[in-house]
Amino acid sequence: MRALVWYGTKDVRVETINEPVVTNGKVKVKVKAAGICGSDLHAYAHGIGIQVGTPHPLSGKMAPLTMGHEFAGEVVEVSEGVTSVKVGDRVAIEPMYQCGACDNCKKGNYHLCEGFGFIGLNGDGGFADYVVVDPYMVHKLPDNVSFEEGALVEPTAVAVYAVKESKQKIGDTVAVFGVGPIGLLTVIAAKAAGAARIIAIDISPERLALAKEVGATHIINSLEENCVSIILSEYGGVDVAYEVAGVQATLTSAASVVKKGGEIRVISLFSAPAEIDLFSLIVREISITTSCAYHHVFPEVISMIENGVLDVQKVITAKTTLENIVEDGFEKLVSDKSQAKILIEI
Ligand SMILES: [Zn+2]
Ligand SMILES: [Zn+2]
Repeated sequence: MRALVWYGTKDVRVETINEPVVTNGKVKVKVKAAGICGSDLHAYAHGIGIQVGTPHPLSGKMAPLTMGHEFAGEVVEVSEGVTSVKVGDRVAIEPMYQCGACDNCKKGNYHLCEGFGFIGLNGDGGFADYVVVDPYMVHKLPDNVSFEEGALVEPTAVAVYAVKESKQKIGDTVAVFGVGPIGLLTVIAAKAAGAARIIAIDISPERLALAKEVGATHIINSLEENCVSIILSEYGGVDVAYEVAGVQATLTSAASVVKKGGEIRVISLFSAPAEIDLFSLIVREISITTSCAYHHVFPEVISMIENGVLDVQKVITAKTTLENIVEDGFEKLVSDKSQAKILIEI
């Protein structure tokens, strides 16, 4: 079968490899659609986040690895004893490993598992014709949810979880700093959660236009305008600022625009330590919270896509094939900041 295999920084290859074999208790999925994530780009461009040198405790795998953790497909084989899914089911994959035995897993907080990791980064993933997964990773898709939408469930879960666990209430004013794929999905999720005003801040005119299309009520290009003074003068601040850019400048701006008693919710992965003026936050009793991936939200996300509450397909800005994934996927995302989600049709 075909697979995109990570060998090293900027060394990923589309290769023919053996099909994975269904072992005890597992499920084999034929992949139909997969999305490229920001963390795939970190792994591609900088070698960050991928399992190198020692095998992952739960997958037993290390690089070279098949990448891809945002995908959907069809079940083609199940091991004896698996009853939660059957051959022919259309499914989205929740790609996070769970050991099931650590304290956090026992409490249901499997996103904080001692064996934290993802297929496609810490084990073989979905940029391939087939993948073998654990049944707990498999979520059925209703007939009216496409495989493309199914591939968007994972990044949507990140945004939905972040908004769901935030202080945001219906009628609030919120800001979303950074409208790449997760930022756009955060706009969509904040709107679904009843935000009255959603201010999107970015430096790409194309991404800002897309943010407006998916629900932002005000867009600000921070290269051209001072987002802090605009937000303070026009809105008197925001109830929740979602930080989805992951750089010092946006964190500082977010801290400046949150109202007293409000919240800065950090969703993005910062690649370097950032500074924050805690004095100014304490005297305004502003919370800084973080959110790590998601847990227990895939079924809701799938239902919300099914019922049209979340129109996620608009975040797809380009499509390509597995053969062309490097040039038309990874390289395009690195060089062209107008892109949001690039989808691979497999
Ligand atoms: Zn991802
Ligand atoms: Zn665990």
